[in-house]
Amino acid sequence: MTDVKYIFVTGGVTSSLGKGIISASLAKLLQARGYSVTIQKLDPYINVDPGTLNPYEHGECYVTVDGAETDLDLGHYERFLNVHTSQANNVTTGRIYQSVINKERRGDYLGKTVQVIPHITDEIKRSIKLVGSGGSYEIVITEIGGTVGDIESLPYIEAVRQLRWELGPQNCIVIHLTLVPFLHASGELKTKPTQHSVKMLLEEGIQPDVLVLRTEHPLTEDLRKKVALFCNVEAGAVVESIDVSTIYEVPLRMQKEMLDQTVLRKMGLSPGAEPELEEWKEFLRKLKNPAHRVRIALVGKYVELADAYKSITEAFVHAGAANETAVELTMIHSEEITEGNYREKLEGFDGIVVAPGFGSRGIEGKILTVSYARTNDVPFLGICLGMQCAVIEFARNVLGMEGAHSTEINPKAKHPVIDLMEEQKSVTEKGGTMRLGSYKCELLHGSESWKCYRKEEISERHRHRYEFNNRYLADFRNAGMIPCGTNPQSGLVEIIEIPSHRWFVGVQFHPEYSSTVLKPHPLFVGFVRACIKSLNNS
Ligand code: GLN
Repeated sequence: MTDVKYIFVTGGVTSSLGKGIISASLAKLLQARGYSVTIQKLDPYINVDPGTLNPYEHGECYVTVDGAETDLDLGHYERFLNVHTSQANNVTTGRIYQSVINKERRGDYLGKTVQVIPHITDEIKRSIKLVGSGGSYEIVITEIGGTVGDIESLPYIEAVRQLRWELGPQNCIVIHLTLVPFLHASGELKTKPTQHSVKMLLEEGIQPDVLVLRTEHPLTEDLRKKVALFCNVEAGAVVESIDVSTIYEVPLRMQKEMLDQTVLRKMGLSPGAEPELEEWKEFLRKLKNPAHRVRIALVGKYVELADAYKSITEAFVHAGAANETAVELTMIHSEEITEGNYREKLEGFDGIVVAPGFGSRGIEGKILTVSYARTNDVPFLGICLGMQCAVIEFARNVLGMEGAHSTEINPKAKHPVIDLMEEQKSVTEKGGTMRLGSYKCELLHGSESWKCYRKEEISERHRHRYEFNNRYLADFRNAGMIPCGTNPQSGLVEIIEIPSHRWFVGVQFHPEYSSTVLKPHPLFVGFVRACIKSLNNS
């Protein structure tokens, strides 16, 4: 027997059906009913973590407070639940194998042949139980990445089958998410792909308890009954997940479909109190009834894939609602910004953001963007590499330091105003070796950042190797670019501002990772406020 209840969320038919959002929405409802819940994501790829992945592959790499580089779904979990996740909340096949191989090298297996079953599946089960083992959670929701039937997800499905058998079906339930496509030619919703997908899951030894069907059109009662009959689930456990205008609507839809109640009943838990969702609904009301509209340009190099900047785009949704403002975000590719066109490309925006990033591609476009924002008094937010570009631009165009650069881009720069951090100089491996996770930062009283946070000391998440070169501090300060946030231990510059500008803030950390629905990030809220103000004054 076990005290912790496990819910597994698998996906079928296609990828990108939104397992992460369904998991986060269910967790939100259970949390709102008074249960302590956490979510875990198991990713079947062989990278040890997504930190080494190009954002074009799986979208943004999300960073937790404890410095884990994780899948972007953990961002959804934190944004919905308003609780921190950690390294244990994201496990990949690479990490599982790494741990098994380390044990084998240590001799832990006592001469046994090490195999997928039982050694890999045991390690998967251990990772699942680990999240619930601290005693902080009553319910653990584990999302299995990929699609049922994929070769690489087989060990995970097998681990779920074993756990269900070991813990009993009341302690371990499976929700399967599939797609019900609509055929325009015949005007019909089709259930066959769902039936096939459930058959595949059955072949792998799992009978799902609940089916969530993604659909563009409402499901009829008949269709639900048909799916229930062919897939061996109760009619009440066939749940409709219809397309909605915002992901933040999904918890309310799932509540209407009684997903939370069905799940609790199947696990033998009491429905608890009616979900407390007043603040959530208030957020949605503001989101849907904006009093203002601002246009913000997001300049980066991964703009072709919206997921590459997921936390930034969501942070603007939260900050927009907090200001009762619709934020219209336009992604602009930094490689397309040139000396000849930058004015034309950037004209008309109420605010400009330069995104985080790595490497030299598109860097001059980002620097030109900063120059436009600075000289035209457009509210500006530079995040990580965006802040570094602001420093480079200021050095070149205000301090007259020709050839000023980051040594990431030009190791021989005449003025290395951004330079490799001391502790990074001995690092040779790429995975998990950046300055990662939360660090403290002291704010300059009265600065724009301080006005946003209204605190002397903050803590924010990081993911970088380079930093402001303090050798140049006095030059910058004298010319009007002020360090307004510094790390109390190392003296590392965390925030720069230009007080003579309307609103110009560059941050070495990533505020976007900690913005949630119920706690919109103060810097994003302040930046949107500055954009509204500049709109009214221009
Ligand atoms: N490439 C820069 C660094 O490593 C910025 C990183 C980022 O934007 N996350 O310092």
